Order: sequence, then C-alpha cells, then structure tokens
Amino acid sequence: MKLVLFCLLAGVFPGWSETRGATFAPITLYTQFEQAPPGGVLEALQDEVASIMAPIGIRFEWRDLGKTGGHEVSAELAVVTFKGRCDAAGLLTRSKFEGALGWTHVSDGQILPFTDVSCDRVREFVQTGLLAFRVEDREAKYGRALGRVLAHELYHIFANTLRHGSGVAKESYSVQDLLADDFQFEAKETRMLQTSRPKPAVEGTAGTM
Ligand SMILES: [Zn+2]
Repeated sequence: MKLVLFCLLAGVFPGWSETRGATFAPITLYTQFEQAPPGGVLEALQDEVASIMAPIGIRFEWRDLGKTGGHEVSAELAVVTFKGRCDAAGLLTRSKFEGALGWTHVSDGQILPFTDVSCDRVREFVQTGLLAFRVEDREAKYGRALGRVLAHELYHIFANTLRHGSGVAKESYSVQDLLADDFQFEAKETRMLQTSRPKPAVEGTAGTM
C-alpha cells in the first residue's frame, strides 16, 4: 500500500486575527479553481467535507472567491485553491505520486487560513482505484477523495495545529483511505476541532520556511 505525505509547509501571507465564537457559526470557505470542476466533482467534494465536519459541529459556507464583492465579513474563514485539473477524465492504469496532495500555509510557525489542494496529484494517486468503479460513479468518488484531502487541511487550520493524529488527521493517506466508503476524524482530533481557538496573528509579513 502506497503512502502519501501531507502538508508541504510554505508560503508568505498576511496573518489573521479571528477568534471562534461560543457557538459554531458557519465558517466561510472561499474557493478558487484553476480550472472549473464538473458539477458532480464539486458536489461530492462539498458533501464529503460536510459529512466529516458536521458531526463535529463545524459547518461551512462555500463561496467562489472570484465572485465576492469585497465587502463581506466572516467571523472565520479559509481560502482554498484547487490546483490543476479537477475532473476524472484521462485516467491511466498506473498510479503515481509526486509531492503533497494538499498543503496549508505557515508563516513564522503560525498556521494561516490558506490551503491548497492538488487536483492533479489526487487524481494521479487514486486513478487506478477509480478505474475499478463504473464510469458514472468516478466523478463522485474522485470528488469525495478531494473532500478528504481538504478536510485534513481544514483540520490544521481550525484545530490550529501542525500535528497529525489518526483518521482524517493521519499524516499520510493510502489510496484505500481516499476511496473507502467511510473516513472520519477520531475522538482526539474531534475534541481539538471543537475546542481550539486560532491564535492572534502577527501583523505584516514574515519570512519563508
Ligand atoms: Zn497534515
């Protein structure tokens, strides 16, 4: 079984300084896609993030970063960039892995609410497994895999930790983890997500790691 490393940590971004309220208001997820995903992939991706996070008490509102007016206020947010081609076309019978599937930006040891998911790398990693599904099911299975990678990165941001654990929080995923019927956080990471508070950000820009 092939394993994948998560979380290439890099980047320089301005900080943030929000705190989570006593009740869990929805967190706004601003998304941008390098190439527009098929509707079936997007729907499965959003459904999977909800099915992993809703039992924990965290809800998300999804917004297209390119369509925001610039006057929106969110108590908590994250910006997600999907790299590459997010469709399930052109699958090969040979899986490959080149680099992290997703990564969250860190500046000066501080986790920033900016995360990237590589659609190409996720597809290339699971493509042999996807070929085992019926053609009409592949978009949903692939979108669900993308949702799991994103849920992992959102854990780093909203549990405010660089550490890994078990379940969705494990350090590396197998093809089986990404394509299995069910994949969830376990008790420890669930508690962290429910109780953590983002730390106040240092203003300005910090150096690269
Ligand atoms: Zn990670």
